[in-house]
Parts: sequence; structure tokens; C-alpha cells
Amino acid sequence: MGLWKFLINSILPPRCIHCGCILSEHNGLCAECFKKIRFISEPMCACCGRPFDGEKEVAFGKTLYCAMCLKKKKKLLTMQRSAFIYDDFSKNLILDFKFNDKTSSAETLANMLYNAGRDIWKEKPDVLLPVPLHRRRLLQRKYNQSALLVKYLSAKTGIPADYFSLVRQQNTVPQVSLSGKERRRNLISAFSAVKPENIKNRKVVLIDDVTTTGTTLEECAKVLHKAGAAQIYALTLARTES
Ligand SMILES: [Zn+2]
Ligand SMILES: [Zn+2]
Repeated sequence: MGLWKFLINSILPPRCIHCGCILSEHNGLCAECFKKIRFISEPMCACCGRPFDGEKEVAFGKTLYCAMCLKKKKKLLTMQRSAFIYDDFSKNLILDFKFNDKTSSAETLANMLYNAGRDIWKEKPDVLLPVPLHRRRLLQRKYNQSALLVKYLSAKTGIPADYFSLVRQQNTVPQVSLSGKERRRNLISAFSAVKPENIKNRKVVLIDDVTTTGTTLEECAKVLHKAGAAQIYALTLARTES
């Protein structure tokens, strides 16, 4: 350990990004908090990444698809993955990251995204796109949490980030406060590809913190599809269980 790092560690020891306890190493979360995260692993739907509870499995050779994906004819999102289940614990972890200026959480969370995205990295995507925030929301919050995740993820994967080609036009009401129908209405024409030439014929990965109904990702995918994206993948920290 360098002298500078030693000094910093003595004055500001690394802390758990969730409970704040002191850690011996810079690994983000303490063992207790880490254990509480419900990470998503195989078996899962090869398309949407939905974890299987055993009953809903449909086997096609070795690849499994959920009933919802088998039913859908047109899929704009080729592949979707999430690091963990959205529950009370992970909700707080993400809220801390979003609102309490815990930008130090970003690296730890981006590493989780990296692990969750291994099937996507195999497809050799061209660019990482954060789900954008509206300018006004961005000013309130000081940073776009998804863009911050993209920054670390881009450094780790070597895949370029694009923060400007996909934008949010309307200052939409936060999705969490709305029902499914309202969510869709709230997002109609909320997104647009201002630089379609940066999207055309490229394999793009959308990055966001949470997906619940999937409406936000779908709306972004529609816009990217229209702009001529070759493939659209989505990677989020958390997703609801079903
Ligand atoms: Zn902790
Ligand atoms: Zn599925």
C-alpha cells in the first residue's frame, strides 16, 4: 500500500456502502450486508433474465425461456439481465445511491452489473447508454445515477459510453408512484434519439438502476430500434422477482 493510500485509509477508513461499518478492504459492502442481497443466478430466462422458481421452466435444448418471452412475437430487447432482486433491502441500497450522494457506491454497484452482464459482454456490444434523466431532474439530483454506473462499467469493459445520443424530453413524474397504465402514458414520447447516427447499426446496452414493469426500458428500446440499432440489450442493478 502506498503512503498516500495508507494515510487516507487511516483518516478515512473504507466503510460499508450500506451500513457504514468499517471494512478492512475496499470491497464496498460488509459480509453481513452482502449476504442480504438476493443475487440472480441460473436458471433464468435466456431472454429477459427472469429468475425461475422451478415451475415456469420451459426447456428448449439447454436454453430456457419464460412463458412471457415465448408468448411475445416481437422483442425489441434481445437480452436483459439484472444483478439482484428488487426487495426492501436492495431498494434501500439503491435509494442511498440515488439520493444521498453516495457516489462511492457506484464502483461497487458497477462491479455487480459487470458480473450480471456476462452473457451480454459475450455478444460484443458497441456502446453503453444510460437511461437518461431530464435536465431539471438532473439539476435537483446533481448526477444521473445510471450515467455514473455507465462510467465505471465502461472503464471495466472497455466498451465506450454514450451519454448524449439518447435523451429524455419531458420531465416525467417518477414511475414508482404510478400504476402500469399510467406508467406507459407518462413515458409516451419521453425519450428520443437525438443522434441516430450514433445508434444506427450498433449493438447498444441500456443501463439503469431498477426495472419493475419494464416500461422505461421498453420505451427506450422503441426509440433505439427506430434509430436503427442492430441489437438492444438491457442491464439493470435490480429487477422485481416476477
Ligand atoms: Zn454493511
Ligand atoms: Zn423471459
